Amino acid sequence: MSQQAPLQLHILIVGCGLGGLAAAHCLAQAGHKITLFESAPAIGEVGAGIQVSPNVTRLLIRWGLAEELKKVSVKPEGLVFRRYSDGQKVAYTRWGERMDAFGAPYYHIHRADFHKLLYDRALNEMDLRLNSTVVDCDPEAPSLTLASGEVIHGDLIIGADGIKSRIQKAVLGRENPAHPTGDAAYRATIPASALLADPELESFVKTPEMTGWMGPQRHIMGYLVRGGQLYNLVMLHPDDGSVESWTAEGSADKMRADFADFEPRIQKLLKTVDTTLKWRLMDRKPLETWIHPAGRVALLGDACHPMLPYRAQGAAMAIEDAGVLGNLLSRISNIAQLKPLLYAYESLRLPRTAATQASSRLNQTIFHLPDGPEQEARDFQMRKAMEAELA
Ligand code: FAD
Repeated sequence: MSQQAPLQLHILIVGCGLGGLAAAHCLAQAGHKITLFESAPAIGEVGAGIQVSPNVTRLLIRWGLAEELKKVSVKPEGLVFRRYSDGQKVAYTRWGERMDAFGAPYYHIHRADFHKLLYDRALNEMDLRLNSTVVDCDPEAPSLTLASGEVIHGDLIIGADGIKSRIQKAVLGRENPAHPTGDAAYRATIPASALLADPELESFVKTPEMTGWMGPQRHIMGYLVRGGQLYNLVMLHPDDGSVESWTAEGSADKMRADFADFEPRIQKLLKTVDTTLKWRLMDRKPLETWIHPAGRVALLGDACHPMLPYRAQGAAMAIEDAGVLGNLLSRISNIAQLKPLLYAYESLRLPRTAATQASSRLNQTIFHLPDGPEQEARDFQMRKAMEAELA
């Protein structure tokens, strides 16, 4: 962060996800006092892999996390898209060192490792209140009420409380539930050693590329995480009654049945999976505003822009939000500037996140085309681009 604000605010952040932690770090670096409220009683390991693109690694490196990040990440050499039924390559983009053109690497990382990295960075910069569910927010006071009945006052409240955000309701003054997207995700990790033991699968470990298999109404993304020790699979398919949770278990047998028409290597990979997590994918149209009119409450991350993970940008956008907010609030010298600075945050961020929400939805259509002329036209265009890439 470039500077410490002349005026110190007491900022109450709701939610200790990737977005809330990034906000705690950036706002503390801007000179503010941070109290962060999280409903979970402990910070534990959840989820599976996550892609961290250069727009985010650039920020993480700036925050002094380059070495820790490198230790737990895998740097993919490229991105391959394959036809679901026979594994034929339809697209290839070389990454690796080429990403240096963006000023920072593309990484694959376990979500728990990513969370720990940000948690360790922010821990000494904030007062963390675990087991503290926020049940009400008074945007005028401004104050938060916890489930225990305790009321906490601050100068500014940041709602980083995810897709079911309570703070969003306080900002908008109405309920605005997220919508099902029609899709759900199975997630599983497989020890890389199991892939290395099979000559048909070993290349997924020996050449650390990200592989996408596109099929009718479904696709699979596969990549290595945890320094190359685990192969992460995300399997997207029509939702058939899952829940929206990082920890809900799905049936591994049902998962295999849902992808039974995918190529033989997928069948081999899925055979090794004993347990899988299942997540209903929800999103929401861009909000009309992220700021309560009194100018003391703002939203960040999935609380204001949940999106399909089909561009791998949900957490990335939350972390960018935090960087911009921290930068703007490092300039505050009197409380009258708070409201205009929050509106500046919204006007810098909302158009970008709205465009990312829309392009993530578009990828749902592109990736999931049924067999037929439109899918053939897509593959033809992608192959042409691949030939140009490899020429
Ligand atoms: P959350 O992670 O939802 O955190 C909200 C926190 O607030 C939680 O800890 C919750 O317990 C707490 N909380 C909620 N309500 C309260 C309350 N009332 N009181 C106190 N605490 C509360 N993004 C990427 O950038 N790259 C990827 O590769 C990627 N892959 C994904 C794959 C899948 C299958 C899915 C589902 C998502 C993926 N995403 C990806 C998106 C990314 O995970 C989310 O966008 C990101 O985690 C949102 O972070 P957040 O901090 O805004 O919200």
